[in-house]
Amino acid sequence: MEIIREETHEFTEEYRIEFSYPDGGGFVFDCDKFGNILDTITSEQAQVYEKCKSNPEMKMEILDHSRSYTHPAVGKCCCNQEVALGGFTNSCCKCGREYNSFGQLLSRDDRNQREENIHEERRI
Ligand SMILES: [Zn+2]
Repeated sequence: MEIIREETHEFTEEYRIEFSYPDGGGFVFDCDKFGNILDTITSEQAQVYEKCKSNPEMKMEILDHSRSYTHPAVGKCCCNQEVALGGFTNSCCKCGREYNSFGQLLSRDDRNQREENIHEERRI
């Protein structure tokens, strides 16, 4: 199998500052990890933010919404179909061939061996 795209990792850093009323509800603003409001805020949002900040009843909390993603490698099957290699076993949706996460074609023996191992594990 030809690997046509390598696996990539992506990390998005995002923080939000949340002001909540004691009985629920409130406001959320995008901020940096120190709680500083981002300068993409509109003037209306800035006014609400200032009101929240000066309201002693509101509880303030900085929340980490950062996320990381893995985009699996993609290989091209013998039948020309692209196969994402994100799993332990990856099947071609067109011809049914199976590949491991490195894009190596799994033989029927590999599959039988794996099924035996699964049965072994169930017995334990
Ligand atoms: Zn295929």
